[in-house]
Amino acid sequence: MIKVYNTLTRKKELFKPRQGNRVKLFVCGPTVYDNSHIGHARTYISFDVIARYLKYKGYSVFYLQNITDVDDKIIKRASETGKDPLELAREFEAKYIEDMETLGVENVNLYARATEHIPEIIAQIETLIDKGFAYETESGVYFDESKFPDFGKLSNRNLEDLNVHRINPDTSKRNPGDFALWKKKDDEPNWDSPWGPGRPGWHIEDTAITEEYFGPQYDIHGGGLDLIFPHHEAEIAQMESASGKKPMVRYWMHTGFLNVKGEKMSKSLGNFITIKDLLEEYPPEVFRFFVLSTHYRSPIDFSQEILEQSQSGLKRIYKLTETIEDLLESDIPENNSHDLKHQELIQETRKNFFEAMDNDFNTPLALSSIFDFIREINRDINESNVSKSILTDVREFINEIGNILGFDFVLNKSQADVSDDLVHILTDVREKLREKKEYELSDEIRSRLKDLDIVIEDRN
Ligand code: AMP
Repeated sequence: MIKVYNTLTRKKELFKPRQGNRVKLFVCGPTVYDNSHIGHARTYISFDVIARYLKYKGYSVFYLQNITDVDDKIIKRASETGKDPLELAREFEAKYIEDMETLGVENVNLYARATEHIPEIIAQIETLIDKGFAYETESGVYFDESKFPDFGKLSNRNLEDLNVHRINPDTSKRNPGDFALWKKKDDEPNWDSPWGPGRPGWHIEDTAITEEYFGPQYDIHGGGLDLIFPHHEAEIAQMESASGKKPMVRYWMHTGFLNVKGEKMSKSLGNFITIKDLLEEYPPEVFRFFVLSTHYRSPIDFSQEILEQSQSGLKRIYKLTETIEDLLESDIPENNSHDLKHQELIQETRKNFFEAMDNDFNTPLALSSIFDFIREINRDINESNVSKSILTDVREFINEIGNILGFDFVLNKSQADVSDDLVHILTDVREKLREKKEYELSDEIRSRLKDLDIVIEDRN
């Protein structure tokens, strides 16, 4: 049984979806005004593994993400760069999706753009006005937080505490904490509405989108820790008020920050590394491994040193699978007297791995059980105590773990053969270029192969 830490109840709870084995999972997507950084990647890799694991356990998961493609930040960046805001948003949305594909984040079933759900957003705002939870002013439509006594239940604050420190710069609002559902605008991207031209507030796009695809109640809502307040709090207020049904979400899950020197990596602090820049230096699986080496709720302090450690950890796994491939082609015995002990070791590791994953997706613990296992198997390989049949099982087991966590631990033979063939083609072409004294191109091939740790020695 899987246990999930629920931010709402501040407890680990047994995971039980609302409808049989169907899981409706929504994670807040990015605001697309710039390249995504590795802090974003941390959150999305974590939820990628959560979705993978739920699927592995037999759940049928529908994973939905919104794309915030209209927002103050987008409009500001567009005016700074002289671009059209929606074009700018499309450009960075495409880059975001490309980054996610490179990182192996491939379980999102649907990306839903805010601007393509304006009718749903307007309908939800109308419901909130009709039910007395929202009101119109000259600047927009606002949610009246005093009408929702549960406001603060997710972040464990109460309205009075919240309001002590708040000032109300917009005197037309009833309470300082009332937030915009619709912003009246005619000089920025806008859509027609019963309240005149304007655009949606940030919080309403998520609940309009989730209501459209999931209905008013669903299983998991995720995002980074920074979104608990006010964003997710506002979502609860909107959806539970509009539908009259509680709870909107069964399990609220939040990822810890990726920090730099103790501070959250963010665009506004300027301490960020884009996903693209990182991937110039390290392969995507190293970053994935780095992310999974910490529990998804804990902070990660980004450092080159830990990234290097991840790289060596990963290499140990690849090294083992390569060794296994070689041994399977050698003349070691099919079976031997250590098989039973090794079978038990696989069973024990499997149990530890799944116990850790079942316990709120504890990937660092799960990985450490794999490393204990690798240590023992390597020792027995060195002592020539392994048989072909056990090595086949080990390979299968490691492959299975890799699939769950999103790694190709076992490079299958045909992939390896194709890579070898490609290197041969490149070296042949390079030889021909050298014969024609096209040294610039031939040097480029050599230098790019060297980047992949493939060294070519010229004979003359
Ligand atoms: P944004 O585009 O800023 O709304 O962020 C998209 C998602 O990335 C949200 O779930 C954020 O909580 C998450 N996020 C942003 N920065 C970080 C960070 N430094 N560490 C972890 N998650 C982050």
